[in-house]
Amino acid sequence: MKYDVIIIGAGPGGIYTAYELQKLRSDIKIAVIEAGQPLEKRHCPIDGEKIKACINCKRCSMMSGFGGAGAFSDGKYNITNSFGGTLYEYIGKKRALDLMHYVDAINLRYGGEGTKLYSTAGTQFKEICIQNNLNLLDASVRHLGTDINYVVLQNLYQKLRTRVDFFFNLPVHSVHVEEDGYEVCCDDRTFHCKKCVVSVGRSGSKWIEQVCHELGIGTKSNRVDIGVRVELPAVVFSHLTDELYESKIVYRTEKFEDNVRTFCMNPYGAVVTENTNGIVTVNGHSYEDKTKHTDNTNFALLVSKHFSEPFKDSNGYGESIARLSNMLGGGVIVQRFGDLIRGRRSTVKRVEEGLVTPTLTATPGDLSLVLPKRILDGIIEMIYALDRIAPGTANDDTLLYGVEVKFYNMEVEVNEHLETCHKGLYVIGDGSGITHSLSHASASGVYVARDLLEHI
Ligand SMILES: Cc1cc2nc3c(=O)[nH]c(=O)nc-3n(C[C@H](O)[C@H](O)[C@H](O)COP(=O)(O)OP(=O)(O)OC[C@H]3O[C@@H](n4cnc5c(N)ncnc54)[C@H](O)[C@@H]3O)c2cc1C
Repeated sequence: MKYDVIIIGAGPGGIYTAYELQKLRSDIKIAVIEAGQPLEKRHCPIDGEKIKACINCKRCSMMSGFGGAGAFSDGKYNITNSFGGTLYEYIGKKRALDLMHYVDAINLRYGGEGTKLYSTAGTQFKEICIQNNLNLLDASVRHLGTDINYVVLQNLYQKLRTRVDFFFNLPVHSVHVEEDGYEVCCDDRTFHCKKCVVSVGRSGSKWIEQVCHELGIGTKSNRVDIGVRVELPAVVFSHLTDELYESKIVYRTEKFEDNVRTFCMNPYGAVVTENTNGIVTVNGHSYEDKTKHTDNTNFALLVSKHFSEPFKDSNGYGESIARLSNMLGGGVIVQRFGDLIRGRRSTVKRVEEGLVTPTLTATPGDLSLVLPKRILDGIIEMIYALDRIAPGTANDDTLLYGVEVKFYNMEVEVNEHLETCHKGLYVIGDGSGITHSLSHASASGVYVARDLLEHI
């Protein structure tokens, strides 16, 4: 089968590439090849009753399929260059922001209208944070919520399917360079195209490494973020979340001068598990629909680690820590902050007696047996620092789930067009190691679509 453009992966990066291509040119043939299911067939078997924990499906429906890793996410589109990736280093700060705003406008048109755009501009919390040795990063955040995010994806699919050929349940095995383009090989089918856009996200991290190796494309090691997900009564953070929704706060520890930061804040949300290549970690989400709100807010506290010489495998380090937690807890471990400070494990009884009702069924245990001391010390210091701006954060009953690991793909060597050393072969989104968020991944897709059309 011959196409002008083949996009590998139907996450935000792939979707927005396809969107922009079909919008700008009605005369070209476009295909999207996706390893996972169509949106409506994506289901996680965990139902809280018969299946309580991750059963390691061959392909995780939370991470793969139309909508990619973000399909069941909280749908927080952070419009900022301060975090979420380093796309601006390749395409410039202004263009990166413009593209994020462009994506935001499309999201509104396809079902997101009426959702709120929060902003740190002019907030009093900037000053309060600085006074307490905390740095609140600048950002605007569109919160679609898990429910509206799903609707936007449904609508985008209905729009795209009339102009774009979608192939689901079809993992791409290899990509080969041909004289006038690329050969894209799957189990029982082979495709040919002039231009190929690879947008395989984190779930495709191992695969993209192999492709880069086979095609002689350079890569360099990236960081890994390790930490815990904090869950506490929503009222403790409501003064911040009501105004900002998500606050990205960075704290520099006194002991080691490490940076610890908040990540992915979910007001009135729920803690969920995530399975990346068989490793179970935690994440969180929340709904825009108030009837689905819980009494709790959750967010991650993460410390970045980057290894370069002689050990380069930052992800391998994060994986080992996550595996240790999976070994001890059979999945995710939960611990009361008070138990952690007293040096004892949490038990079912202690968690049940606490003031915070967990939104995820996890194994009560001891995170100090899992997390390296330096990382854990940093997290504890930050919890006390946050307690100064949000009293109650350091309460005994605050729950810590572990481990949360943010794996980043190896950074793929691309130029300012996000094109590899092979003309017409682009690597975008989280799979490139350059973006780590919905808005940056989507923006990279629009950017590449516009760029590659100049050469078709
Ligand atoms: C639970 C959760 C919550 C999140 N919440 C937020 C949030 O609120 N805000 C935010 O900014 N970010 C959030 N993120 C991160 C965000 O989802 C990602 O940054 C974003 O989805 C990256 O988009 P992408 O298109 O690059 O990759 P992905 O979304 O990962 O999509 C890649 C797609 O490629 C497919 N694929 C992989 N390998 C192959 C192959 N060999 N052949 C064919 N297809 C393949 C995968 O199946 C997948 O569908 C969240 C992530 C998770 C897991």
